[in-house]
Amino acid sequence: MNIQKKQRYTPVTNEKYRCGDITYHSFRGTTIYVLHGTNGDMLIDTGLFHIKHALRKWADKFDIKYIFLTHAHADHDWNAAYFQKRYGAKIILNANDLRLRHNFASQPLQATRRKYRWKNFTLNISGRLFPSPSYKPDIVIKSGDTNLLRRLGFDADLVFLPGHTAGMTGILSGDTLYCGDAFTALFYEPEIPPYAADITTMKKSLRKIAGLNVKWLACGHGIPVKMSSSKRVIRRYTDK
Ligand SMILES: [Zn+2]
Repeated sequence: MNIQKKQRYTPVTNEKYRCGDITYHSFRGTTIYVLHGTNGDMLIDTGLFHIKHALRKWADKFDIKYIFLTHAHADHDWNAAYFQKRYGAKIILNANDLRLRHNFASQPLQATRRKYRWKNFTLNISGRLFPSPSYKPDIVIKSGDTNLLRRLGFDADLVFLPGHTAGMTGILSGDTLYCGDAFTALFYEPEIPPYAADITTMKKSLRKIAGLNVKWLACGHGIPVKMSSSKRVIRRYTDK
């Protein structure tokens, strides 16, 4: 009897938003990316303590020379000091988030939708109680310096997207915007970030994102999402 074996298939999150070209790994709600350059690779964000070992296993495969922090929230910079030392890598952070590293209260967060108010309240408490291990950026991004990554050997430009934090910075490379928490896929579909230090400024950055000619938004949480689906979510929010 000819028994046709069914191929085992494990669906990975939401197939319709998957992107095969972006080097990324999703760890327990946090998504870390690697950008390849001519002088080595760059880790984009480092996640919270609970992903350190899994991230190390994955990141060891690359030649990490730089650690780019999209912003200085603990779920993005907690492991920065560890990987800086492990790889002898240079940390890159926007000047406007320098104070936020050791003083979460310097940029208190507001909920961007009513349904996030309770989560926002608890986050503002935990953010103050559990600061990331201390680290010092080797390269501080100054306002307007969009070419910085080109000088370091990456085919990429910086895009300033303040609002979620004052120093929130994205990377535009090829058909992808690595956008940190300027946009999110936290629930595995395109969504407005639940929190912002300044909602009016965040809305301006969201409009900027919607105006970019890219195919993918590689978010700091969830999976890369399509710009076409994301634009609708952005417009519904910013047109209110
Ligand atoms: Zn954040």
